[in-house]
Amino acid sequence: MGAVIRQATLDAVTAAARAAYPEECCGLLIGAKEGDRWRIDEAVAAANVAPRPRHDRFEIDPALHLRLQRELRGTAQAVIGHYHSHPNGRAAPSRADLAQAEDPSLLWLIAAVAGDAVKVAAFCLASDNFVEIDLKVEVGKP
Ligand SMILES: [Zn+2]
Repeated sequence: MGAVIRQATLDAVTAAARAAYPEECCGLLIGAKEGDRWRIDEAVAAANVAPRPRHDRFEIDPALHLRLQRELRGTAQAVIGHYHSHPNGRAAPSRADLAQAEDPSLLWLIAAVAGDAVKVAAFCLASDNFVEIDLKVEVGKP
């Protein structure tokens, strides 16, 4: 079980995490699941529509999710998961994350902002709990 992300996509996620600080950013991940490996092609920023304060919570604009699902219908790509940031620097799912995790088929990316550094980690749900999975960065691909 693992995931692979393009360098440019990873850069977009870390930039969004920095820009939203001290609130959480969020967005959707577009790609495909190949066997037991997720391939993340693109990260699409979403409005965080959670009620303020948003330093420890996120809610992806459902309209964006619907629009992307409609646009990707019939293609080889799909919405395979989402990302959000943790302004507290912890690259692990929070209790709030577990409480709102419903779909076991989704990939979760968490971008933890700690000073100038942003650490990105990937998780999926297994038996109602999060499991960290290997995240590889694909360099040199457009
Ligand atoms: Zn979280």
